[in-house]
Amino acid sequence: MRRILRVLIVAALVLAAAWYVAGLPGTVTVRLDGLTIAAPTALAALAAAILFVLLHFALRGLTFLLRLPRHLRRWRDARHRRLGDQAATRAMVALAAGDADEARHHANRARRLLGDNAHSLLLTAQAARLAGRHDESEAALRALTARPETAFIGFRGLLRRATEAGAWEEAAALAQHAEAAHPGATWLRGERTRLALRGARWEDALALADAEAPKAALGVGAAEATTDPARARQLARRAWREDPALAPAALAFATRLRAAGRERRAQAVIRRSWTLAPHPDLAAFALAPLTDKLARLQAAQTLVADRPDQAEAHLLLARLALEASLTGEARRQAEAAREQGINQPRLWLLLARIAEAEGANPDDAREALRRAATADPDPAWHCTACQARAERWTPACPVCDAPGTLRWLSAATIPPASAGPLAPS
Ligand SMILES: [Zn+2]
Repeated sequence: MRRILRVLIVAALVLAAAWYVAGLPGTVTVRLDGLTIAAPTALAALAAAILFVLLHFALRGLTFLLRLPRHLRRWRDARHRRLGDQAATRAMVALAAGDADEARHHANRARRLLGDNAHSLLLTAQAARLAGRHDESEAALRALTARPETAFIGFRGLLRRATEAGAWEEAAALAQHAEAAHPGATWLRGERTRLALRGARWEDALALADAEAPKAALGVGAAEATTDPARARQLARRAWREDPALAPAALAFATRLRAAGRERRAQAVIRRSWTLAPHPDLAAFALAPLTDKLARLQAAQTLVADRPDQAEAHLLLARLALEASLTGEARRQAEAAREQGINQPRLWLLLARIAEAEGANPDDAREALRRAATADPDPAWHCTACQARAERWTPACPVCDAPGTLRWLSAATIPPASAGPLAPS
């Protein structure tokens, strides 16, 4: 309604203006270089209006021509974007389907059409990787690392490639770059821990360790690796506090205490760990400063005083009593160990030596040696993940690389393997 009203008003005004112009008296004269044009005022007004309209359209045409290259560029860009997006989608579908050649073709087309952006570079890298063209993939990933917003994606891809190729030093450097590009990523933390373990960089692994990590084992490794005595003692103390039942942690700490002249504290550490989990190396450490055989036996009695009933305590006292020529005591302690269910070569060999020292019945020694041949294996370091037997303790299993899995166990007490390859026996 309003529109109709507006049209009617405009029409009325135009009519009124035309009426007014048509009614204007006189003539308009234009003189141009000797040429004189005279026309009635109404005609001159009409000519002026037509001239105005023509000029308007001429200007619009000129503007269109001037803007044409820009329009053409926009149109081409839009077309490239549309085709590039199509190619990118096709590349993604081919990647998902595992079609390497198709993926690479579409990814390269997407990169040509869209230029080097995060999307096209990542697709190029993935497609080249699927096609086994590692150089091409690496070049695309390196291009990603050059841009702050996509650097992390690039470093992640390069890190995966270095890990696959077993280039551990390069992988560790790339992990550091990735951390700088995007600090605190959970995936990267796990990857850096794995690399630190792989490279036996125990202190780095300890720094990255989460609540589940075997910090005691990592701490012992870090203490052994450092050349600074104060730092080594600090790391060893932390490891021992983390797991006082881990004999290598106690030995690492006590060794450094002994080196610092703190023998009493060292002995206290060893005694606490022995009470929790007796290990022959703990006794060897505690008795090392003593040479007198009776003094060694007395020191051993002090060591086991808190838990004299443990089979390992009976075995230790039996061996030291025999060395001190106290065969009666040696026999009593060895029999006590046997009553506790110990059926291992080390016990039967000790009983054979005791029988020989007693000199009573030669058959006793022979019987003990016979029993040694068929007994359960002596305890040793075993991996609780893959069951491999290790000659010596290390922070990570030498077979399956699992950290903190080596435990002092006899074969009969090894828990079933949770993962990893079967141990060579
Ligand atoms: Zn293992």
